[in-house]
Amino acid sequence: MRCPFCATDEDKVIETRVSKDGSEIRRRRECEGCKRRFTTYERIEESMPQVVKADGRREPFDRNKIVHGIAASVVKRRVSRDQVQQLALEVEREVGEAGVSEISSREIGERVLPKLRELDQIAYVRFASIYRDFRDVDSFTKEVDALKGEDTGRHETPAHEERTDEHLAVAADGE
Ligand SMILES: [Zn+2]
Repeated sequence: MRCPFCATDEDKVIETRVSKDGSEIRRRRECEGCKRRFTTYERIEESMPQVVKADGRREPFDRNKIVHGIAASVVKRRVSRDQVQQLALEVEREVGEAGVSEISSREIGERVLPKLRELDQIAYVRFASIYRDFRDVDSFTKEVDALKGEDTGRHETPAHEERTDEHLAVAADGE
């Protein structure tokens, strides 16, 4: 990025922020030449990192994939579309502010988990079970036990039968 003061082409990014509506990324930069600071604004579509899928393919970051990835987990739970949208927006903001050029789909899933847990524990367990693919049954069982320990007043079991490929758009990418 060319420095507006001295035209040096080298700078370092000091801070990266995503605008409230998620449309723009603002970067605070410091010129390597004159050390003065300036701010650049980029459209979010152009500055989000590429998502690296489990098979190594790359694709553009897409907030909607997070929404779809969560959809199966919130079936029949008291979680609104708005809440899911909001969660996806928050993840997008985090990913944007990480200031990286690439991010794994797995890491995106890991960023979804704690937010989903705050929203609804059953949805969280469902998502975790799909997302982590039951590869580690012990840790999954521990997770469920931990939730029981917190006593949500509900004792439903995760609805495994709702696992369909369509709903696994994001989840299936997580190795
Ligand atoms: Zn400069």
